[in-house]
Amino acid sequence: MSAELICVGTELLLGDILNTNAQYIAQELARLGIPHFYQSVVGDNPDRLKQVIQTAIDRSNLLLFTGGLGPTPDDLTLATIAEFFNTELEERQEIIDDIQQKFTQRGRTMSPSNRKQALLPRGAEILPNPIGSAPGIIWQPRPDVTILTFPGVPAEMRRMWHQTAVPYLRRQGWGKELFYSRLLKFWGIPESDLAEKVSHLLNSVNPTVAPYANYGEVKLRVSARAMSETEAQELINPVAKEIQEIAGLHYYGGDSDTLASVAGQLLQTRGETLAVAESCTGGSLGKALTEIPGSSTYFWGGVIAYDNRIKEQLLGVSREDLATYGAVSATVAKQMASGVRDRCRTDWGIGITGIAGPGGGTPEKPVGLVYIGLASPDGTVESFEYRLGDTRGRDWVRRVSVSHALDRLRRRLRG
Ligand code: ATP
Repeated sequence: MSAELICVGTELLLGDILNTNAQYIAQELARLGIPHFYQSVVGDNPDRLKQVIQTAIDRSNLLLFTGGLGPTPDDLTLATIAEFFNTELEERQEIIDDIQQKFTQRGRTMSPSNRKQALLPRGAEILPNPIGSAPGIIWQPRPDVTILTFPGVPAEMRRMWHQTAVPYLRRQGWGKELFYSRLLKFWGIPESDLAEKVSHLLNSVNPTVAPYANYGEVKLRVSARAMSETEAQELINPVAKEIQEIAGLHYYGGDSDTLASVAGQLLQTRGETLAVAESCTGGSLGKALTEIPGSSTYFWGGVIAYDNRIKEQLLGVSREDLATYGAVSATVAKQMASGVRDRCRTDWGIGITGIAGPGGGTPEKPVGLVYIGLASPDGTVESFEYRLGDTRGRDWVRRVSVSHALDRLRRRLRG
């Protein structure tokens, strides 16, 4: 017994819009523990839609459609499904009444084309749409096939999914088992190294352990199937604990944690404060820190010191050192960190200077060379050098630099 998702819309095929409905429904099916092995996107074309339906009913029992329920001639999902199952469409007066009422409430008159949205395959139940005009259907055209349709508009689809589809599916016995997962997040260890260290867990069946990597961050998703959340957590806990022990300080948090939230939490617990001086990241470190609600208790502010004059005038970086070592150097990163800490009177200071590219690199100082300075409450100032390369672009260098800076702070706060 498995579900299959069919998203209808030529604009999806053209790449004009992102298929966020597919992402949402896929996550929901996973959450509900409903097996789901295939998804299709098909344009507004009846013949191709019928081919997709044929393929889907040969391998799945629950067919979920989004899109093509509107009033215009290219909205043909229901008519095509009905034709495929040799069933006539019939007009439902209650839908016309409902659409009429919604139009009246908005001070508009219902257009004749909206009547089309009241045509449902004979025998189909209405899947009500509380916020838009197009309802969906719940229909079993054959004993082994259940069809649910939703409009393309994401807000309408989501509301209908929660309000009617999920309770219906549960009543029908779908999703009795729950699928629960926990994300474990790591920084400072390559995906392949981590995967090797936990390789004995990667073939486990319940829970499963799957690695992901994005912008230098590595994640392991530990997912369990069980009858209750508590049972799922009991399956996940020992595996998550083992992974954390193996990864040591590279493990920084789980689920909604970010490097900024974890570093912020540590500062808050210690009652300490932070200021930042940013060159190549242009304020992104401050942005990451201030994204966390309540960050004003520990993050005091910073300076975007892009030009050397600002590094000198606002942070007190030595002109001679700028000339001798260059703006992108360990010396300048350290002076930026201690300068901003001293001037802002915080406990900690971070300085970031680097070459984000695509231009500006030299053989000695290539694009992707970044220095991070970290000034601590005890007066010590450290610097860290990163060579991030020139192949992944400016945005990547800037984002990863911010993460490295937060990670350095986090490690010092933990250590
Ligand atoms: P309507 O009654 O508004 O015509 P509909 O069911 O006919 O709804 P579509 O016409 O296919 O739906 O899509 C309406 C809008 O919903 C699209 O313009 C698009 O913005 C959005 N949409 C459609 N399909 C998706 C999808 N799979 N993911 C995200 N957004 C979508």
